[in-house]
Order: sequence, then structure tokens, then C-alpha cells
Amino acid sequence: MRDDSPVTRIGIIGGGPGGYEAALVARQLGADVTLVDSDGLGGSAVLTDCVPSKTLIAVAEVLDEVNDSRVLGVRLPGSAGVELDLVDGRVKSLARAQSDDVAAHLADDGVEVIVGRGRLETVRRGGIHQIDVARSDGETQRLDVDVALVATGAHPRLLPGAAPDGERILTWTQVYDLTELPERLIVVGSGVTGAEFASAYQAFGSQVTLVSSRERVLPGEDVDAAVVLEDVFKRRGMTVLSRTRAQAARRVGEGVEVTLGDGSTISGSHVLMAVGSVPNTEDIGLTAAAVRADDRGFIVTDRVSRTSAAGIYAAGDCTGVLMLASVAAMQGRIAMKHALGDAVAPLDLKVVASNVFTDPEIATVGCTQRQVDDGEVNAASVKLALDTNARAKMQGITDGFVKLFCRPGTGIVVGGVVVAPRASELIFPVSLAVRHGLTVDQVADAFTIYPSLSGSVAEAARKLHRPH
Ligand SMILES: Cc1cc2nc3c(=O)[nH]c(=O)nc-3n(C[C@H](O)[C@H](O)[C@H](O)COP(=O)(O)OP(=O)(O)OC[C@H]3O[C@@H](n4cnc5c(N)ncnc54)[C@H](O)[C@@H]3O)c2cc1C
Repeated sequence: MRDDSPVTRIGIIGGGPGGYEAALVARQLGADVTLVDSDGLGGSAVLTDCVPSKTLIAVAEVLDEVNDSRVLGVRLPGSAGVELDLVDGRVKSLARAQSDDVAAHLADDGVEVIVGRGRLETVRRGGIHQIDVARSDGETQRLDVDVALVATGAHPRLLPGAAPDGERILTWTQVYDLTELPERLIVVGSGVTGAEFASAYQAFGSQVTLVSSRERVLPGEDVDAAVVLEDVFKRRGMTVLSRTRAQAARRVGEGVEVTLGDGSTISGSHVLMAVGSVPNTEDIGLTAAAVRADDRGFIVTDRVSRTSAAGIYAAGDCTGVLMLASVAAMQGRIAMKHALGDAVAPLDLKVVASNVFTDPEIATVGCTQRQVDDGEVNAASVKLALDTNARAKMQGITDGFVKLFCRPGTGIVVGGVVVAPRASELIFPVSLAVRHGLTVDQVADAFTIYPSLSGSVAEAARKLHRPH
């Protein structure tokens, strides 16, 4: 039987995980897909943010392990260090290769890619949308599409008095051009990005000062986890300035001077500004296309990624829902499944797992301690320190814990936190439990390896058992 229904034309603006994952799903569902991207396929996730930072951090992990190995009796000839130009060279080439892989995958699956800047135009009669493209070759092109997806991402927020110069006053997109290790690095901002870079450069051997406007580092994360991390940071020699705002940064001779909220100054060799992100939603025609954004510029979407304009969807950092590559990709896939009539489950933020790639790592999934404390979620909890775990003792791991939350009546696992080396790998059993509504007994009944860190996940579950 021939299917004569017209092929749906999809136009996607932005080639990061929100855009390219959507493009692949839309092709799988039989749509005609054109993707417009201005700065490189894979987006900031691949070229400047997620992939490069985690590649850099992989090197820091090795150094942390080497440095920590002395207490296990390992004899090292001298102190381990990095050759930053080699590290940065590897980071950049790995990011480029990853971007090439994304391009090849899109081409193999039949996605048409246009290099240039896309902009929504007013909806035409019959629900057809127009995307105007200023191509990188100087030409302009107009696309008529049935469905548009905006996935334009975000860029680093800048402080007015701290304009980056790419040499000593840096954003996180610029650190990979450093050829020498910053001797005294000031990191402004103690959210996930600031904490990750502070942790990595400290492992490399920089003297790090972390400027945190809040009471402690990682204000958005589990408090117990943040306390452990701040303690480790300080023990390793990092200076953490809490409840301190940076007002400005300027170059002074061969270094930088950062002015703080009380008027005092601190000096360093370099400063890294990590004070949040701004959505790339200016000048992309949102108003003309009747797409609503909030007062910070984030596109307002529902749980299937629909915007306020019929036939226009949005995914990823430009929506500000949860600024993670995994969430961007999920939003993009959901948008295309919804638009093309495939079975789709709305985005469920209660099951998102995320990780802070510091040493130790902090992985979380499901409900948070704050929600439990505020009475938003009714849950019993247990926190098990890792220093009671046999494998942790063998490996010399002294910092970290496993925390589980479950419904008091049913014992269904609703959340968890793991603070440990490679917590990003250890969170998976908890994530499975949260996603599939497993009880603490079901988690505790599964075999774990002895000795293993994951044994602590099962033990925490066992502690939450209520006799029937
Ligand atoms: C330092 C750092 C580390 C991170 N680490 C992680 C991590 O470990 N794990 C994780 O899950 N997340 C991580 N994130 C978050 C992750 O990078 C973002 O959530 C992800 O990039 C969002 O994907 P996106 O598709 O929305 O946007 P992006 O990846 O930003 O892609 C958007 C693309 O659209 C292009 N674009 C913008 N405007 C236009 C236009 N008008 N026309 C055409 N193209 C346009 C941009 O140039 C870009 O290529 C990290 C973020 C930072 C800052």
C-alpha cells in the first residue's frame, strides 16, 4: 500500500544536542529535515562546554588519583603535573572530532545541514513557518517548513565590569587557549561550572581562589554534598571566599585584580568568570513568530516542548528548563515525536540524573533534600558515609556518602545522592530505581559485588527497610 500523505518538513535552528538529536528522531519518523547551525555541529555542548570540560577534567582525575596514591604506599619520583598546551590541544582536537562525528551521523541519516544563522519569520497562511537563513557563504535562503524547532542554546553571562580578554580574564569557552598553567587562578562563581573548573585547576597545581556569592559552594546542590566538597577543597589548599560577590575584574600588569562587593580587591594571575548563562534568543524572530519568552529571555515551553506558537517547538538551554545536554536531547526528541504523531511521554524532571564532575563527584537523581525539608515531598531518608565501605577503605577513599530517599509507606525510592569518585557511574542503580518505582527492598535484594562502592547503595536501601 502506498502512503500518499505529504512528508512533513521540519526546520531546526541550532545543532547542539537539542537540535541534532531531534533531527535524527525526525528523520527516523520519516520527515524531511533541514538543520541550520552557525557555530559547529554538536553545539556548545561539544565544542566549548560539556565535552571539552569533561576531557580536561579526565586529566585532573588522573592527577588526583596519582596524588592520593601516596597514602596507599605508592612511591612517586616527584610531583605529578600537567603540560597544559598538550592537554588543551587534546581537548580541542577531541571536541572537533566529536563535532565531525555528529556531522557524519546527520549526513548518513539524510539530514540537510545549512551553515548559517537562522531566524523565524511570521507564520504564513496554512500554518507554514518560514526560517530565514543568513548563510556563512554570504547568501540568504528562505525555508518553508511545517514544524520549526528552536534549539539555539546559551552563552556565558558576562559582568559589565569584567569584560573577558581571552588571555587573563576568561570565560569557560576561552580556557582551552591557555598555553601555560594559571599560577594563581581566581574562579568567580561557585555553581557547577565554577566548582568543576576550580577542582580541575587545583588538581593541575594552580593556586585557586573560589569566589562564592552564597554561604557555601554549589548552592543548587544537596547541602550535605556541598559541605563535603567545600571541606575537600579547603583541605587541599583552595581559598573559598563565601558570601562574597565579585563586582569587576581588570588586568594589572602580568595579572588580574578582582574587586569584591565590599570594595576590597584580590589578585591573581588569571580570572575565570563562571556566573551563569544567557539564552541565545535575541534576534531570532521570537516576537514576530508569537513565541513567548520569560523576562530573562528563556523560551516558555510545555512538557512536550511546545511553545506559545502553534507548530513551533523549543528544546535545550534556550528554554532554561534544566541546562543539561541530556535534558536538551530529551526535549528535542520529545518535540519531534509529538510533532510527528509518534507515541511520546512528556518530560519528567523528577527522574533526571545529573552530576557535578569535581573530585569527589556529586551525582543526584529524583527528589532533593530541600524538597523533603520543605515538606514538598514526604520521604524517609538515610545517609551512609563511604568510609564504612570496605572497598572505599582499600582504595583510601575517606570523603563521600550515599543518600537515599524513599516513600515512608511503600518504600518506593524517590531520590538519591552519591558523593564519591566516579559517582556519575554509581548513581545508575538509584536512577533505575527512581525511574521504575523500585522499592528499597528490591534494591537491597539485588546482588552487589563484594567489595564494591555500589555495595553502599544496597546497604543504604537495606537501612530503609521497614519490617512488614
Ligand atoms: C562548562 C560546561 C560544562 C557542561 N557540562 C555538562 C555535562 O557534563 N553534562 C551535561 O549534561 N551538560 C553539561 N553542560 C550543559 C550543556 O552543555 C548544555 O545543556 C547543552 O549544550 C545544551 O544543548 P543545546 O542544544 O540546548 O545548546 P548548544 O549545545 O549550546 O547548541 C546550540 C547551537 O545553536 C547554535 N545557534 C545559536 N543561535 C543560532 C542561530 N540563530 N542560527 C543557527 N544556529 C544557532 C549555536 O551556535 C550552537 O551551535 C555543561 C555546560 C557548561 C557551560
